[in-house]
Amino acid sequence: MRLEDLIGQARAAAVLRNAILRDRAAHAYLFRGPEGVGKSTAALLFAQALNCQRKTPSDLASACGECRSCTLIARGSHPDVRFVIPAGDSQTSVIPIDDIRRGFVYDINLKPAFGRYKIYILDPADRTAHLAIHTILKALEEPPPYVVTILVTALPASLPPTIPSRCQNITFQLAGIQAVEHHLLTLGLQPAAASSLARLSGGRIAWAVRAAARPEVLAARKAILDLCADLHRRPVPAGLRLAEDIKLHALALAATRRDAEAQAQADDETERAAPARSFRGDRVLRSELPWCLDVIVSWYRDLLAAPRGGALLNPDYQNLLNTGQGPRSPLQEDHAIRAILETRHSLQRNANIDLALESLAIKLLSGGD
Ligand SMILES: [Zn+2]
Repeated sequence: MRLEDLIGQARAAAVLRNAILRDRAAHAYLFRGPEGVGKSTAALLFAQALNCQRKTPSDLASACGECRSCTLIARGSHPDVRFVIPAGDSQTSVIPIDDIRRGFVYDINLKPAFGRYKIYILDPADRTAHLAIHTILKALEEPPPYVVTILVTALPASLPPTIPSRCQNITFQLAGIQAVEHHLLTLGLQPAAASSLARLSGGRIAWAVRAAARPEVLAARKAILDLCADLHRRPVPAGLRLAEDIKLHALALAATRRDAEAQAQADDETERAAPARSFRGDRVLRSELPWCLDVIVSWYRDLLAAPRGGALLNPDYQNLLNTGQGPRSPLQEDHAIRAILETRHSLQRNANIDLALESLAIKLLSGGD
């Protein structure tokens, strides 16, 4: 994969390619933009291109992807390319100050082992321990000429402003829905599924590709939309089972993902720079739930859009959206969307899963807040 292959990131790719071609990499970059649009992949490709040992003369801005350097970087075990990442897997874990010191600030003064550049990728940079910020700033001040630091973040506003001002800012954006759809078609997805997933992704290509690669994600999407379509036809006690149903779908997704991750880890015998992933059930469940809730939001967005002839996020449900809902008001859909987003937010802040989902089910059934 080359930088220009990143979907919808032509501008960012052009700036980075130019830096490689002119042999003028900045000493620090801030890769900023929404989640799931390719910032981390771009950091990896950029690091590979900077240190590649076997570039083709016809494309000097791209890594070969196969030499020793490229392979080691892809595995996270290149001695000169360090991934400085949070310790632990929860949304609240941070990059400890000791990792910043040992893996970055003290390390930059040691010359590269065999690479042309020493590259540090702090990802996500907004989750560094608060005390470490000053240490990072100091390191960005006057690094040795062979050092390139890449800070990756979806939340640049949560960094002190002195950090963006000391970096070259590279902005990544949401890809166009059509570009995502086109990419999914090239991966062999059926047109209806590609169209729906592309819209549902909102331009987050990483999310769309991940969903496309996992048939169970499409199956869960359908099951959750069927639940939504049926929700207001159920008697209230049955409707209250919604919370349990959502959790079951998230658990099923979590189980398949856990198996896939365990397999990938067994396949990869090399020592990785990243700390071993732990498979705590709650953590994996919590990481699948936001996606399940996004599907429910997409249903209510469609309920708002359908009567106005707007573009649907779930075009394959057009008939049910137009006919199956009985009298509801835009205010009710608005309340529902707000309640779902609040639940999503509270789960990310470690709210109790059962309580949060049950309370959401009651709000959706009552149609108010
Ligand atoms: Zn290479």
